[in-house]
Amino acid sequence: MGIGDLADGVTRGVEGIGDALSETLFEPVIRLGVTGLSRAGKTVFITSLVANLLDRGRMPQLIGARDGTILSAYLRPQPDNTVPRFDYETHLAALTGDVPHWPESTRAVSQLRLSFKVQPGGLLGAVAGPRKIHLDIVDYPGEWLLDLGLLDKTYVQWSAEVLTRIAPRAAAAPFRAALGQVDPAALFDEPVAKSLAAAFTDYLHAARNEGFYDCTPGRFLLPGEMAGSPVLTFAPLPATDRALRGSLWREMERRFEAYKSEVVKPFFRTHFARIDRQVVLVDALGAIHSGPQAVEDLRRAMTDILAAFRPGRNAFLSRILLGKRVERILFAATKADHLHHAQHPQLTAIMEALLRDAKDRADYAGAKTAAMSIAALRATVEETIQHEGRTLDCVRGTLLETGKQAALYPGALPTDPARILSPARAGGAAWLDADYQIMHFAPARLSLKPGEGPPHIRLDKAAEFLIGDRLR
Ligand code: GDP
Repeated sequence: MGIGDLADGVTRGVEGIGDALSETLFEPVIRLGVTGLSRAGKTVFITSLVANLLDRGRMPQLIGARDGTILSAYLRPQPDNTVPRFDYETHLAALTGDVPHWPESTRAVSQLRLSFKVQPGGLLGAVAGPRKIHLDIVDYPGEWLLDLGLLDKTYVQWSAEVLTRIAPRAAAAPFRAALGQVDPAALFDEPVAKSLAAAFTDYLHAARNEGFYDCTPGRFLLPGEMAGSPVLTFAPLPATDRALRGSLWREMERRFEAYKSEVVKPFFRTHFARIDRQVVLVDALGAIHSGPQAVEDLRRAMTDILAAFRPGRNAFLSRILLGKRVERILFAATKADHLHHAQHPQLTAIMEALLRDAKDRADYAGAKTAAMSIAALRATVEETIQHEGRTLDCVRGTLLETGKQAALYPGALPTDPARILSPARAGGAAWLDADYQIMHFAPARLSLKPGEGPPHIRLDKAAEFLIGDRLR
């Protein structure tokens, strides 16, 4: 290394310290967590949110954008060197290219920093001049959040709960059959462990596709670079009092404990504990379409998710949070462009009822919460058609499967959310008095005017709730 390199290293080091200091002292950072179960719409949400924060022409409900207190916004290198960057440019190119398509979904945690120059209002603002605020957006799978529940459980408890829960489910039949072939007290054998873990993972995928949300351990579904490692090669086993050291049962127990301490805890420590504001995206329309069981399952998942944000719920969490808490949580029903706006209040009412219920059950007193219906990227236009003497409020778009145009009437959501929530709680197999359709639309081809982000529904209102107070 030459003197030049050394000097360079020293100056850069000093600059680095300067940067860090000025950032913490004068440039506040908001960490916004974006989560939701797989396919809930996280990737599309972040991409469209960032595009619409950079070009704020379609964000009138974000007060800082409307009043002009946000002077500028720009992307900056993120401070966390080892966390993958959210691939904003590639995702935006997918959505806004000549042949628009949906981007690749979230598979693991990623991050993006957006910085704002804000001119605060009032006398103080005029004297102090513009200031910088950084928004670190942290994208992570909701499945990982549900893993928090595992920390309180021993392997015996977890196994018993899972085996009871999956007993009536057809999707679990192959796993149960595989389980029937093994003796938990037998000497540990890696191929046996591997095939049991594979059968259990297949079950989790099948359950997830059927609309069930209780699909933990979360990394079994989204393993990332841990695929095939011992921490992901275990499965629930019935309790046995014959399990000696070296048995299948003991090794599975050891791996379950390793999953808790080497996978779940580090995620909460490194990412979750630093979040200030959180949006939980929910594919409520997808759940309603899947039927009452999926809605009931969604309600339970929302309760579990909300419980993770309740300080004091879990000794480990209280220790790492050190009294810090998430200040605002938004539960947003995504893909509202599948509904004519006349039905948005009904969808929002269902979300609000689910949230209220989750809050009651989580015995919750903490952050400010809200429920909304949004579409991060509007893929449809509204249309009213006459059908068999009835007037139907539809949406029209390009079908993903065939590329053909189609109008969708998803069914009339009830004005009283209890009509959805009560049958769900009663465990009905299908809706009695209605049928809810869903179609998959491709993103529409866009021609954006300068200063405009992609079209959306209520993304500005969501942004105002989440970060608006800090941007004016
Ligand atoms: P993730 O797994 O949570 O990251 O989910 P994605 O953001 O990849 O979204 C999953 C799928 O949901 C997409 O591929 C789209 O088909 C659909 N989707 C997401 N957001 C919207 C939206 O605002 N409108 C419509 N029509 N579909 C959406």
